[in-house]
Amino acid sequence: MCGIIGAFGVKNAVELVIPGLTSLQHRGQESWGVLSYEGKDGERFHSHRARGFVGSEAETLSRVKGPVAIGHVRYGTSGGNNLRNAQPFFGETRFGGIGIAHNGNLINTEEIRDFHLQSGSIYQSTSDTEVFLHLLSQSKKETLRECLADSLQKVKGSFSLVVLTEGGTLIGVRDPRGFRPLSLAKKDGCYLLASETCVWNEIGAEFVREIEPGEMVVVTPHSLESSFPFKKEKHANCIFEQIYFARPDSLIDDLLVSSSRYRIGKILAKEAPVEADFVSPVPESGVASAEGFAKVSGLRLKRGLIRKRSYNARTFIQPSEALREDGARRKYCPDPGILSGKRVVFVDDSIVRGTTFRLLVEMAREAGATEVHLRIASPPFSHHCIYGIDTPSDEELLASKMDIEEIRKYLNADSLAFISLEGLHRAVGENNFPECSHFCNACFTGKYPVL
Ligand code: AMP
Repeated sequence: MCGIIGAFGVKNAVELVIPGLTSLQHRGQESWGVLSYEGKDGERFHSHRARGFVGSEAETLSRVKGPVAIGHVRYGTSGGNNLRNAQPFFGETRFGGIGIAHNGNLINTEEIRDFHLQSGSIYQSTSDTEVFLHLLSQSKKETLRECLADSLQKVKGSFSLVVLTEGGTLIGVRDPRGFRPLSLAKKDGCYLLASETCVWNEIGAEFVREIEPGEMVVVTPHSLESSFPFKKEKHANCIFEQIYFARPDSLIDDLLVSSSRYRIGKILAKEAPVEADFVSPVPESGVASAEGFAKVSGLRLKRGLIRKRSYNARTFIQPSEALREDGARRKYCPDPGILSGKRVVFVDDSIVRGTTFRLLVEMAREAGATEVHLRIASPPFSHHCIYGIDTPSDEELLASKMDIEEIRKYLNADSLAFISLEGLHRAVGENNFPECSHFCNACFTGKYPVL
């Protein structure tokens, strides 16, 4: 779970990269960083890496200068949360300086790292991303592009990358299964790359197309060369990007995310109807699905819960259940004026540990709701993700140890239903599921496309 961006700017590229990163903030809030290339003379590369939310201090803008830059927001799935693991990573190689920013998660990092460490290499971080730089610098191929392609064939897992080279060329790559997104745009005649299309509105760029799974693009300000250096694999786009992770106004894998969520809600209402007085979304992630649910069920859509704007921290990764509960309690306010004496259906994107809903059901009852029904816009989340979505271990996932009735009792809800796997795939345009699919759904099925 990270966001990446690469840009050429008319003056300083970082003036596009930093606002772009703020649009990707939902993809990572642990740390952020930018790396620019100024030109052959002087220091050539400039960088800034910091913990927490993206900042736009004048000092960073003026110091990280140059016509081309890459940036990263991190939500760590590999390696600890310290500044050492903040990206972009940078190294000096026989091709000169190279910077890299990665979204995804590699599953054979330890093997590769151990091999390097045993042969005397020095690693500066504990992040999986650093193995790319080592593999690239040790490849025996001739050109930088060949070395990059060669090194990428040695890793297993998911990667969307932006790479900044000596001389100021940008390279964008998406792994052959296409787990994580990557999109291409143009501004002032120059190419740009970013994880999600929501960036383009923010910086006034024009969306060109998505980078295809297995594609590598080599971009100078006005030229683009595309190649497919990997063995062809069955595509496995992450279905959880559509359900929860991506911003609703982004287009990913040819689907507008908010429309996918709306269709999920419509199918959920058909699959699991309920008698109630109104539907309420759990903001923000349940909003589009709740709208779809309301449309098909004919129930009114009302906001029974308010999400406090001031509450910015992520409850999900708090280290203890008590802290997570406390966080969820501070994040939402039930509205008694809407809930009192009523039967409510809450729609949210997913149940992971169940912390959020256990508390919301209790709070809704305290606010006077007479019945609380839950409808979930994903199937039971039973397997942890190894391709870059930060999820707890299988033992902590409610759906790995309880059936639906047990979960309902645990959450103290009057009824509970999840969208079916087949219904979810239909909502993302796959009427022929399970015969064929281009999505990874391992979090619901345990069928991991690459191990
Ligand atoms: P839980 O309270 O553990 O059941 O978590 C479910 C809530 O966390 C849902 O409301 C989701 O919107 C949100 N969520 C789901 N997956 C993730 C994730 N990987 N990281 C952060 N939040 C998530």
